Amino acid sequence: MWTDTRPAAEMPRLFERGGDLISFAGGLPDLDVLPLEAISGQLSRLVRLGGKLAFQYTTPHVAKALVPAVTDLMAREDGRATADTLVPTSGSQMGLMAVGLGLASPGETVLVQTPAYPGATAAFRTAGLDLSAVPSGRDGLDLDGLRRTVHALRADGRTARLLYCNPTHQNPTGATMPVERRRELLAVCRELNLLVIEDNPYGLLSFDGSTTTALQALDPENVVYLGTFSKIFAPGLRCGWIAAPEHLVPALSRTTEVIALSPSALAQAALAAFHTRGGWNDLIDGYRASYRERCALMADALERELGTDGPWQWERPDGGFYIWLRHRDGVDTGRFTAAAAEQGVSFVPGSHFGIGGEHADGLRLCFSHVPRGRIAEGVARLAQALAAPAAP
Ligand code: PMP
Repeated sequence: MWTDTRPAAEMPRLFERGGDLISFAGGLPDLDVLPLEAISGQLSRLVRLGGKLAFQYTTPHVAKALVPAVTDLMAREDGRATADTLVPTSGSQMGLMAVGLGLASPGETVLVQTPAYPGATAAFRTAGLDLSAVPSGRDGLDLDGLRRTVHALRADGRTARLLYCNPTHQNPTGATMPVERRRELLAVCRELNLLVIEDNPYGLLSFDGSTTTALQALDPENVVYLGTFSKIFAPGLRCGWIAAPEHLVPALSRTTEVIALSPSALAQAALAAFHTRGGWNDLIDGYRASYRERCALMADALERELGTDGPWQWERPDGGFYIWLRHRDGVDTGRFTAAAAEQGVSFVPGSHFGIGGEHADGLRLCFSHVPRGRIAEGVARLAQALAAPAAP
């Protein structure tokens, strides 16, 4: 039974009632950056030369031709994988579901870094798992809190074996956990016997081109890494991967096979061709430049419209798609959604990123796909909405 509708909060169409609405809600990439003509040439060549095979079922393995692309992309954050440690997915959303179904049993508790991507919490809940929040800030997770929570759960007879986190340019806060804190987190997870689930769609999307060593690179035997082409190529291909310790690969491949039989042969072939032709450096640079510019437009407008000593606090992210605002006095931002709709702007209220209503004082703004010329106007509308008396 479907128990949670929150991934829908990611879908901008729910927020876009047409007309003049400026949506800061959905996390969509800026596909103007995609070199469509080159891709179209590669696709037609692929169909001509590969013929029917690109349209056939395949096996639940990452296509041989795509493995070099995956290992190249992971190596940019020092990550390591081989064909034997990779499981293909139709994007990380499926990876989350595969982890929830394949690596845990219903009734178990997953520790979740919060605020958290609502699609992750929904996937784990749908797999029958309970959730327990581990609060995090700019510096990463509260490790003493993590220890206390795990000990309390276990003292209560509960099984808690997985920790989910999104350590780089996090959705929704934009925060990146420093490497030293990553080492500490991994040591604590070893001490507590927790397997780490590293969800990393935004890792290559820093604004200055720098990268941060992935958790997977620091402890490959205790990290299950979820990678995706959604944000560094395009989400419409529905293509991603899991890099896991080898002993977990059979359980994960069985689960992905049950969910989707096999990955898309056509999508994998298209991505492999794009990699062979050396497309990724320019594409990632293009995405970075687009997001750097859009983020600056949004942050500058927020400074102008909301000031820096008012009730709203935020930090300029250094990568990713999002700016996370928080109300100093803990006001529930859901109370501004009606005023925002009236002004013609939308955002995702913070309660979507908690696991039981917490983080309601937060508000996620996505800049990645908003036309440059509309960002300042959207922020001005937002400021009007936030200045309106909050609905009860
Ligand atoms: N994890 C996070 C943190 C995300 O932000 C998203 C997409 N918004 C996903 C997973 C799912 O991405 P996909 O299924 O397109 O790979």
